[in-house]
Amino acid sequence: MAVASSEASDDRFVVWLDIDNTLYSANSKISVEMGKRIHAYFVELGWSDEEASELHHKYYTQYGLALRGLVRHHDVDPLDFDRKCDGSLPLEDMIKPNSELRKLLEDIDRSKARVWGLTNAYRNHAYRVLRILGVEDLIEGVVYCDYGDPHFSCKPEPQFFHNAMGLAGISDPSKCYFVDDSRANVQAAWRLGWGRCVHFCERGLEIMEGGKFKEIIPNEELPRDIEEITHLEELRRVWADIFKQR
Ligand SMILES: [Mg+2]
Repeated sequence: MAVASSEASDDRFVVWLDIDNTLYSANSKISVEMGKRIHAYFVELGWSDEEASELHHKYYTQYGLALRGLVRHHDVDPLDFDRKCDGSLPLEDMIKPNSELRKLLEDIDRSKARVWGLTNAYRNHAYRVLRILGVEDLIEGVVYCDYGDPHFSCKPEPQFFHNAMGLAGISDPSKCYFVDDSRANVQAAWRLGWGRCVHFCERGLEIMEGGKFKEIIPNEELPRDIEEITHLEELRRVWADIFKQR
């Protein structure tokens, strides 16, 4: 857990944005390229294709992040993993500056809400994505997994959300607005009392999770006060209270 920038605490809401597969669409296929590299990393450590697939999926499911299992059980250096997996992605060919996303973030009334990133990726990847999308300057800070710390936490562990609030200087969970493409992450935040949780769910698209392809179709009902959206523009409706009035 770490933070890239911080400001003195104030009483505005905090909007927490997941980054991967939320600020860009699963259509980008970045999850597929990421999955291939993680698989190759497991194989490089000595497992067969089959074993690698099984462990990759097991750790992703168990911990929300394959790397979490590799560090915990196999003493893998997270920074080496990051260089070979996220660091080698040809992101510049896969995502482009997004003026619609930029306008969406510009239209959040900053007298009411601050805007932060909240990601299971390491800092380098998080900022690279924000830079390519052309929104880096609209994000006050990013809470990321600190791969430099062998005991780092990640979503959906409660500790990650607690630490994030501390880093942003906010103590009231009901003032947290959160959007993520992972239902597990959104539900974890909701259970901690985060006030306005939104599941970004591109139903019908294909994504790779834990090394396996899956169609995005949630298999369980959401609690009534978690909104589901299929396009980020819908945040203007579900979070109307923090957008500038037109
Ligand atoms: Mg995500």
